Amino acid sequence: MGGNVGSGSVGLGGGGLGGGDLASDELRTTPEEEELVDFISFVLDDLQATWRELLPGYRDATLVLFRDATRSGCGVGQSEMGPFYCGADEQVYIDLSFYAELRSQFGAPGDFAQAYVLAHEIGHHVQTLTGISDNVRQRQEADPASRNDLSVRQELQADCFAGVWGYSTAQRGNLDPDDVEEGLRAAAAIGDDRIQRMGGRGVHPESFTHGSSAQRVEWLRRGLESGDPDSRDTF
Ligand SMILES: [Zn+2]
Repeated sequence: MGGNVGSGSVGLGGGGLGGGDLASDELRTTPEEEELVDFISFVLDDLQATWRELLPGYRDATLVLFRDATRSGCGVGQSEMGPFYCGADEQVYIDLSFYAELRSQFGAPGDFAQAYVLAHEIGHHVQTLTGISDNVRQRQEADPASRNDLSVRQELQADCFAGVWGYSTAQRGNLDPDDVEEGLRAAAAIGDDRIQRMGGRGVHPESFTHGSSAQRVEWLRRGLESGDPDSRDTF
């Protein structure tokens, strides 16, 4: 498991920061995690092949799987942050423990739930390549009061992009109705309202940055049903 698996677009990083050269660190994986890594690599390849067809000029993102913490072009990534995409290095970062949490804490098990999380992050990569992310950042800087609202719209668009990929996998016969339910359940599980409620802090829509469970489900569903990247106008 040193360095690269799959098509070469998945890297295994992390294993602790400080001391030791990260690039040469190997991430020790359990057999279950190896199975997960294989599956995630497969999904990543499928996602990127789909976007290469949908989006002229698409270039691949790299996925970095890590444990605990890792360096990224956007600063130190930590498990607590959940999966994230960094536009500066065009890499998606997912802590291996996130998938176990998705199952145990958020009650969203299943292959497609795992795939949806990666598809959402690749949605952010698409937003970077198409200039949407820059545009949102400029609008947020020009009008700080709109920051959260714009963030929610950007996140919901990434959910819709995840759905667009889901549509393509369904067209190719790789998706059954249970998968769709799993993905929708995962989208609902990680809505801001649900996470805030779980955190025991009450629900504060004005501080949402990703959208409510209902919104996330709606936009994932829109992508899934239309398969059209142009149906994603959350702005
Ligand atoms: Zn996101």
